Amino acid sequence: MFGPSIKLFDLLGFPIRIDASWFVIAALIVWSLSSGYFPQALPGMRPMTYLALSMAAMIGLFGSLILHELAHSLVARRYGLRIGGITLFLFGGVAELSEEPKSAASEFWIAIAGPAMSATLALAFGLGAATLPELGTLAVLLGYLAAVNLMLAVFNMLPAFPLDGGRVLRAWLWQRAGDLQEATRKASGTGVILAAALMGLGFVSAMSGGGIGGFWLILIGFFVLTASRSAYQQLVLRDSLRGRRVGDLMTPNPQTASPEMRLATLVDQIMLAHAVSFVPVVSDGQILGQIDTRLVRSVPRATWQDRDVGSVMAPIDPNSLISPQMTAQDALERLTKGPARKLIVVDRGVVCGVLSLRDLLGHIAVVQALGGGLGTVQAGKAMALPAHKSILRPQP
Ligand SMILES: [Zn+2]
Repeated sequence: MFGPSIKLFDLLGFPIRIDASWFVIAALIVWSLSSGYFPQALPGMRPMTYLALSMAAMIGLFGSLILHELAHSLVARRYGLRIGGITLFLFGGVAELSEEPKSAASEFWIAIAGPAMSATLALAFGLGAATLPELGTLAVLLGYLAAVNLMLAVFNMLPAFPLDGGRVLRAWLWQRAGDLQEATRKASGTGVILAAALMGLGFVSAMSGGGIGGFWLILIGFFVLTASRSAYQQLVLRDSLRGRRVGDLMTPNPQTASPEMRLATLVDQIMLAHAVSFVPVVSDGQILGQIDTRLVRSVPRATWQDRDVGSVMAPIDPNSLISPQMTAQDALERLTKGPARKLIVVDRGVVCGVLSLRDLLGHIAVVQALGGGLGTVQAGKAMALPAHKSILRPQP
């Protein structure tokens, strides 16, 4: 879901990363503060002072976002959930939960922790600004950070799943009716409505001269819209795979090649004849490597008659070997996260099947067709990790 990101440091065991898109927003914040906010709040100072204040404000905002996500992560860890780390990106921050909360209560406390942290920070900065007016310039900076944290708390409590407020709403619905999927459907429904409202508001604001704030609202609305939809689709995916194992869904008895086989034979008699693009290489039942159309193409066509599979195959990545007992949900995660696009299913050392995303999605499509009314499943769109996202307020 992210572009290239840079790991900065570990905080209480959580890796803190910055997505490249964060630099865009950091630059935008420094620019808008140093050319607008601070010159208005503190007239008559030197441009360098405004720039320094804006940099300090940006770093304060950076710290506030991390603390917001850290609060989510700490509570999640207390509930025994695995956390991938914290990433700051264009719209704010994300605490990557590797799994969904297991109960309505844990969902509630994990979700509320972030806004509670932001509200506490707002109060602390606000008190600092109010009680230390003799600080002058610094008090203005503290006031700004108080306002930003208050907006972070309020904005993220909008009942739009998967924002924090939407998660609180989902936890409440889940607790009340005991049906997670239905609760998610409703909470992401409000997310879609709110996203449309944000985009509409942004459009009106931009048309009536609201400037960058209007465009920002449109962007955030769009972000909330895609996030709510993908969060729901992702739940549908996981739900459709519940209780299934790799052995149920794999393509069994796959075509295999021997290392001595000529490439021309592999292409004609296996790949083309059986419409497969990926072939495990096996000798005496033991897996030796794998070969696919990409590898075959890397060899000049004129030599396919002479080259053997063993000289072209790639070694097996241990991560792409799975057992038929693995749950389908885990296999989905492995396929969507890892580099391997096909997994080789090995039972007691013998290759017994191949599993691709297509196998899983085919199953999901049928489940959905039978269940009905759950919306469509879009391959690839719904693969985002469950995440606590926080979004920034529109720019001042
Ligand atoms: Zn949050």
